[in-house]
Amino acid sequence: MNPPPPAQEPSPSLPLVPSDEETMLRETVFGIASGYGHEYFAEVTRAGEAPTALWRELSAGGFTSVHLPEEFGGGLGLSELAIVAEEVAAAGCPLLIMAVSPAIVGTLLARFGTTEQRQRWLAPLAGGEILCSFAITEPDAGSNSHQLKTRARRDGDGWRLNGTKTFISGVEDAAAILVVARTGEDERGRARLSLFIVDPDAPGLERQLIPTVLEAPERQWTLFFDDVELGPDRLLGEEGAGLRSLFLGLNPERIISAAICNGVGRYALAKASRYANERAVWGVPIGSHQGVSHPLAEAKIQLELARLMTRRAGALHDAGLPAGESSNMAKFSAAEAGVRCVDQAIQAHGGNGFAREYQLADLYWVVRLLRTVPVSREMILNFVAEHSLGLPKSY
Ligand SMILES: Cc1cc2nc3c(=O)[nH]c(=O)nc-3n(C[C@H](O)[C@H](O)[C@H](O)COP(=O)(O)OP(=O)(O)OC[C@H]3O[C@@H](n4cnc5c(N)ncnc54)[C@H](O)[C@@H]3O)c2cc1C
Repeated sequence: MNPPPPAQEPSPSLPLVPSDEETMLRETVFGIASGYGHEYFAEVTRAGEAPTALWRELSAGGFTSVHLPEEFGGGLGLSELAIVAEEVAAAGCPLLIMAVSPAIVGTLLARFGTTEQRQRWLAPLAGGEILCSFAITEPDAGSNSHQLKTRARRDGDGWRLNGTKTFISGVEDAAAILVVARTGEDERGRARLSLFIVDPDAPGLERQLIPTVLEAPERQWTLFFDDVELGPDRLLGEEGAGLRSLFLGLNPERIISAAICNGVGRYALAKASRYANERAVWGVPIGSHQGVSHPLAEAKIQLELARLMTRRAGALHDAGLPAGESSNMAKFSAAEAGVRCVDQAIQAHGGNGFAREYQLADLYWVVRLLRTVPVSREMILNFVAEHSLGLPKSY
């Protein structure tokens, strides 16, 4: 008799019906966030404040750290953090900082942090006591991270950091900024990149606000590093480990960005359906006109496809499998779906779509932003053309 085949690692699979645990997670988080709702979100945003009460309640329930190791209150995966991000957004509160602080910085600290770094930054981040920003974008490098100029030079057993970062979100509330800096070059002259944990009030670090049209609580900053001194404990992970390890944090950022778009899409379609059922200008609800119902139905189909791809990306990431392609596709499709859902929902509301009272149009810029950020749709198309289709690199 032949011996049995060797045991195989179970491959990730997508449930077609949500488990009881998933349903409970969704309902609990949606319930918490609905207790605040879009009115709260819009009010704190217009007051220039942070949605601290909402964040604290979510963190106290362990929902902003579900994906972190068990000792930091987690034990589940990024798929569950994506559920949290989607439900909070579906309640009208798209928290962009979730794509940065827990998703990138939390993931990278958990993966590469020393015991001391995890205690100092990951433990309070997991507990919701601190938030962290992430800084890679530079004014002259843009989408081309090989051109990053911010440099960390060895100085004794530490480093000195010089350069400029731009469009860095949430620095006003951050206890630390994870900065990507060049620490050398490879044989082709391309940057060898390293990660550094920097205090926002470190001597030599200045910041300047970038006013934007975005209606979201996080503000955007240009950061100027002028000989900022960093101790040896500020290097996260290996020196020069580069983009490969960075992507362990950037794929989660894309997946959570996708989840936020999916949640906003749900919020917009729920509002539109309600309105189109109630509003009657020809004696019947406007939703009975196919000119209103079909675009909403198409947006719904696009949204469900994006949600499926987002789940796929989360499952691959959680299984430790390559998730770059699916994370990019999830972010791309969710941003397109989110924009379409919000736009069609505004259209279905007629003039009321523009009235603040209807709590809709101010969400347009969040989903529109996520077509460009954290990686633009064009750079995703470049990636898919090259890596998924084997076409020549175009740049
Ligand atoms: C509100 C907001 C918040 C942000 N938060 C953060 C943050 O917290 N941390 C951070 O590090 N960054 C952040 N960013 C920066 C963001 O990630 C970048 O703006 C984005 O990656 C695009 O880079 P860029 O602005 O330099 O555009 P560029 O690289 O100058 O590109 C401009 C346009 O040209 C296109 N393009 C460029 N190269 C190519 C090519 N080879 N082929 C085809 N098209 C191309 C791009 O797709 C884009 O449409 C934020 C930006 C905004 C607006």
